[in-house]
Order: sequence, then C-alpha cells, then structure tokens
Amino acid sequence: MKPLTHTQTQELLQLAADGLLQPGQRAQLDAHLAGCHECAAYASELDSLQALITSSLNERWGQPSLPDDAGRRLQEQALRTRPGAGLGKLWFLLLALPLAALLAWQLLAPAPLIPAAPTETQPASPSATVAPPTVTSSPVASATASVPFVPTLFTVPAQTTNCREGNSSQFDIVDTLYADERYEPLGRGRDELWLQFRGPVSGVRCWAYVGNLSVLLNDEVVQLADVPESVLPYLAYPATPTIPPTPEPTSTPVPQCSDGLDNDGDGYIDMQDRECSDPTDNNEAN
Ligand SMILES: [Zn+2]
Repeated sequence: MKPLTHTQTQELLQLAADGLLQPGQRAQLDAHLAGCHECAAYASELDSLQALITSSLNERWGQPSLPDDAGRRLQEQALRTRPGAGLGKLWFLLLALPLAALLAWQLLAPAPLIPAAPTETQPASPSATVAPPTVTSSPVASATASVPFVPTLFTVPAQTTNCREGNSSQFDIVDTLYADERYEPLGRGRDELWLQFRGPVSGVRCWAYVGNLSVLLNDEVVQLADVPESVLPYLAYPATPTIPPTPEPTSTPVPQCSDGLDNDGDGYIDMQDRECSDPTDNNEAN
C-alpha cells in the first residue's frame, strides 16, 4: 500500500467528513494518521471545527432549521479556500467561520424555514471559542415577505334597492343602493339573506336584501354562501322593531242574512228566512 502524503491525507480527511471515503482509503488514512502527529492534529481540528459550527448554528437557529450536513459543508468550503496548507493557520478559520456560517445560512435556508424564535441574546455555547454569528435583523423573513393577496368583494344591485335598518321590511329605509353601482358589503346575516352596507348617502349602516344583489368575489359572481367568512363576517341582525299593534280591523259585521245562523230563531237561516231581502240584509227578523 503506497503511503499517503500529508496533502493526500488531508484531502481524504475532507472526503471522510463528507462520507465519501472509499473502503480502501479508510485503511490508508488510518495508517497515515497513526504515524503522523501533524495529520492527526489536523483531523482533530477538523472534528472540533465541525462540532463548533454545528453547535453554534444549532444554538442560533434551532436544530431543524439547517440541513444536517450544513456544518460539514461550511467546514469543507472553509478548508478548501484557506490560504496555504499550514496547520498553524487554522486559527484564522475560527475567525472566518462565523461570517461564512452567516452567509451560508442566508444562501442555504429555504424561504419558508424561518427560525422559530431566534433570541438575539442567547449565550454562546461554553465550548465555543468564538461568538456565534450575530444577526442584526431577521435574515429571510423581511426580504421575501410577499404582499398578501387581498380579496375584493362587491355587490351590484340589479335594481335600485332599499337599504333598511334591519332585515325586513318592518325596518325603516335609511338609504338606497342604486342599480349597477358597486357597493362593498360590511357583513351578512347568518341566514345569508341580508347584507349590511354603509349607506352611500346617509353613512348609516343598513341592510339590503341579497335577492336584488349580485355578489362579486374577485370580480367573479358567486353565491353569498360561498364567500369565506374571513372576507365577509357574519353580523347579528338588529332586533325586530316593536311595531304598534295593528288595530284589528273593526270587523265589518257579517249581515245576519249571510252569517249562517238562525238569528231570529224561527227555524230558517239567512236567505231561507223570508224576512231576508238580500244577503246584505242585517235583520233576519223582519
Ligand atoms: Zn501526515
């Protein structure tokens, strides 16, 4: 087995960190490490670097927020770009890694994976010799926040429609919705029969019967029941006004000669009674 050079050994160590080592290479690597203090130290630095990165990132962002191999990739990237091969320069990486980690986080993190609650004041891991990446603002959320879709809802009266104080014709008319105009409803009754508006003229809230109205959600005609509650809330109807008792129409008395009764007790009813001249005759007796 051909002995490895130090450089080859360190390359294999990086492969090992990625899990890409071939079976034969592991034996070669171990053989070299067993006899080379310098490469063994390198391997040890590699391990602790990875542990540091992983712990620092996890502590900052929470375990699920970063792919498992992110730390290793960072480390690998750092090692490949480091100047020179001298092991004494590893300390430089320790300073550069927090920045690399922060940069990589912004590049690697998918947009929806916003850290649950990154606490800015979280203390560094005791084992960390450098501060975890400091963040001055929420990294991804503010940058990619998209404008929320705002649904539009209008109603268009097919005919000029009364807008009343409540959900029946017993309520007073307080405003009018004109045919073919667009009105934005404020709410609806539970029975989906009446819509509340702000009266276009009076400014007073009033109710219009839905039968006269086309409902347009995002410019498409829909059934009122299909409009989500988040778009149009349900509102309580006002109490039905106490209407003055309509005076019982003083019942025009049915004439005796058409009331179906034997009013004078002579055995004859209505027009059978000879005393009845016609059905409007109110005296069966004479
Ligand atoms: Zn070596």
